[in-house]
Amino acid sequence: MYYVDVILPLPLRTLFTYGVDDSIGKTITTGCRVHVPFGKKDKGYTAIVVSVHNNKPREYDVKNIIDCPDPEPVFMPLQMALLSWMSSYYMAPQGDVVKCMLPSLLRDGDGATAKYKPKTVQYLRLGSMAFDTGINLTEKQSGLFDCYKELSGYHENGVEIVPVSKKTLIEKSGTSDVPFKTLIDKHILEYYSVQIGRLPEYNGVLVSPKQLSAAQNTAKIQIENSFAQGKTCLLHGVTASGKTEIYINLIRKTIDSGKQALFLLPEIALTVQIMKRLQVVFGQDMIVYHSGVSAAERVEIWKKQLGNNPYKVVVGPRSALMLPYASLGLIIVDEEHDSSYKQADSSPRYNGRDCAIWLAKKCGANVLLGSATPSVESYYNALCGKYSLVELTTRYNNIALPQIIVADMHELYHKKIIRGYFSPQLTSEIKNAVDNGSQAIIFQNRRGYTPVLMCKECGWIAECDNCNTTLTYHKKENKLSCHYCSGNYQIPKSCPKCASKTFTVKGLGTERIQEQLEQIFPSVAVERLDLDSANTVSEYENILHSFQEGEFQILVGTQMVTKGLDFDRVGVVGIMEGQNLSARADFRSSERAFQLIAQVAGRAGRKDKRGTVILQTTQPQDIVVKYVTRNDYKGFFNEILEERRALLYPPFCRLVEITVKHKNPSTATAGANALARELHALLGDCVLGPQSPAIDKIGTLYIRRIVIKIAGASLEDIKEHICRLAEKLPLNRHFAGLQVLFNVDP
Ligand code: ADP
Ligand code: ZN
Ligand code: ZN
Repeated sequence: MYYVDVILPLPLRTLFTYGVDDSIGKTITTGCRVHVPFGKKDKGYTAIVVSVHNNKPREYDVKNIIDCPDPEPVFMPLQMALLSWMSSYYMAPQGDVVKCMLPSLLRDGDGATAKYKPKTVQYLRLGSMAFDTGINLTEKQSGLFDCYKELSGYHENGVEIVPVSKKTLIEKSGTSDVPFKTLIDKHILEYYSVQIGRLPEYNGVLVSPKQLSAAQNTAKIQIENSFAQGKTCLLHGVTASGKTEIYINLIRKTIDSGKQALFLLPEIALTVQIMKRLQVVFGQDMIVYHSGVSAAERVEIWKKQLGNNPYKVVVGPRSALMLPYASLGLIIVDEEHDSSYKQADSSPRYNGRDCAIWLAKKCGANVLLGSATPSVESYYNALCGKYSLVELTTRYNNIALPQIIVADMHELYHKKIIRGYFSPQLTSEIKNAVDNGSQAIIFQNRRGYTPVLMCKECGWIAECDNCNTTLTYHKKENKLSCHYCSGNYQIPKSCPKCASKTFTVKGLGTERIQEQLEQIFPSVAVERLDLDSANTVSEYENILHSFQEGEFQILVGTQMVTKGLDFDRVGVVGIMEGQNLSARADFRSSERAFQLIAQVAGRAGRKDKRGTVILQTTQPQDIVVKYVTRNDYKGFFNEILEERRALLYPPFCRLVEITVKHKNPSTATAGANALARELHALLGDCVLGPQSPAIDKIGTLYIRRIVIKIAGASLEDIKEHICRLAEKLPLNRHFAGLQVLFNVDP
């Protein structure tokens, strides 16, 4: 008898042991899938084998596995190592990591109920009665039969050569379904099925990577030198400096040397353009792997990566890291600073960039981080010598970086120069641009019409019934919606508080900006790009494509307009309410604001002309404004670094954020207090909180937060302590139902 220790796809921190008969036990290995019974009702789950041994557990009766569906492991040793590292580093149950890694159709029992089915097509072949002379056929029927023989390439003593489908046969013969049905009924023809793949094929033209400029070539050589030293390399290159072309050259070289390359992007929907640039170079060797790929296709990609002929180039967001790689040579993390690399809202709360660095180290691959505005952590690592730093300071073709002009909205309002939302600078730049046949992008990080709907009489404000937040007014759809729990509400007919029937709106969302621009420029076409107008990848592509084609002149959008877009004709970029970008209560909010502004500004004037950016803000003295207008990343970095040092934030410490949730506010508070007390006793002053976040209730749950700052001490030990304390808590009957969530490196 053999035994296997397995990970169940459930949020559990322990392994479970099952018995396996000798016949299967001999062949089973680490990384195999097994079906096992679990729980009171012995429900079937797909589990992953961690180890195979002969030690019968003494404490309990062991159940046997149900079966082992594949002959080979679905996780390679490298993926097993990643799984175990992610689980311990991010304090996530191993089952959560398995769920995150393995395509849902390869799992069972954890809510992923559908099973993978190969795709089949039906063809025709000769049936058992095909040459029975006793059967009389009508003229139509025998004509159809002859046609089949011709199409299939059949001749007297031969067999069918070409597979023929019913559709082809009916079309080519010009007959109807009736004689066809007779041939089937009389067993002259019969159906058979063939399995086919779902993976996309690329038949377009292929091009070589572009010849690099002298500056790009120097950068490439520096990057390769850094790889030779085994170091992580950070490529800091301003927007449109030609980083993507360098990536393409490096990938080409990697796959020519027989290795695989992984190209990570922050969000797949936002990077269609870059994907197309890669596709024309790598064609069939490349696959895009992301959540928009169908579940069955994901299984086929996964299986192909396990086989003898895996894709050489994989492009995708953080989830592409989870695929099996047999011979990874290079990982590129483009826009490495981007917050979408962090999976924030479900366990494991991992950062794709950091996992990429770990994975590359583990398998000896090179890793290149690229950004125009590196994260403070990565840039600090580069300055300390932990990473090597390569810089591209000018745009390709020496086009000047855009000029960023600040519009002081406070002054404009104060001096009563304007009443609306647009500064004279911005309106005149937009007018100039459209008059000259170029285009404008207007960026506002808030969708909907306004974030507030208010009673004109008593000041009542529409709020979500569940979350502690205001509802956003969507004018066109005539509804209110909660951007936290996605709940929708009708506009009240009268104020619930004072019964007045007059409401007013406050604030500015993309929908309202579009409306106002249409009023200011009645003859100009304005479109919008945000989650409401582009809910799917294809809607997103359509809007971008028509903008590219010049079908409209002004594009209003949320951060969807900031990333990975390379437009030819954008003369001006307007940034609305710049002060809001750094106003969040988060130690990274200034950094994020700088990155967003630099990135959206970078959309202006790429091909042959310098662009203009109008940054509207009520706080022109803010340090983000000061440095971003000078394109001075380093100056900004130095200031932020000092602030982080003084207040003890990363990169000078590590953070573990603990979120406690409960449906009862006092239980949430009491639970968080109890946990904080114990953590404090153990770890001292580095435990901060608990505190209620600004939005302290989402859906049905109240939220409390504890933050632990760890500098110097051993992270692993501390994490273990935290886990143990936190797991005990919900066992206390006062705290039943309490949820405790961890976020490492939030
Ligand atoms: P980044 O990734 O730094 O934003 P890109 O690689 O997108 O920059 O380059 C900006 C523009 O310059 C793109 O349109 C790109 O095609 C062009 N470009 C960059 N390098 C070259 C090159 N070596 N030859 C021709 N065109 C280039
Ligand atoms: Zn009222
Ligand atoms: Zn809500």
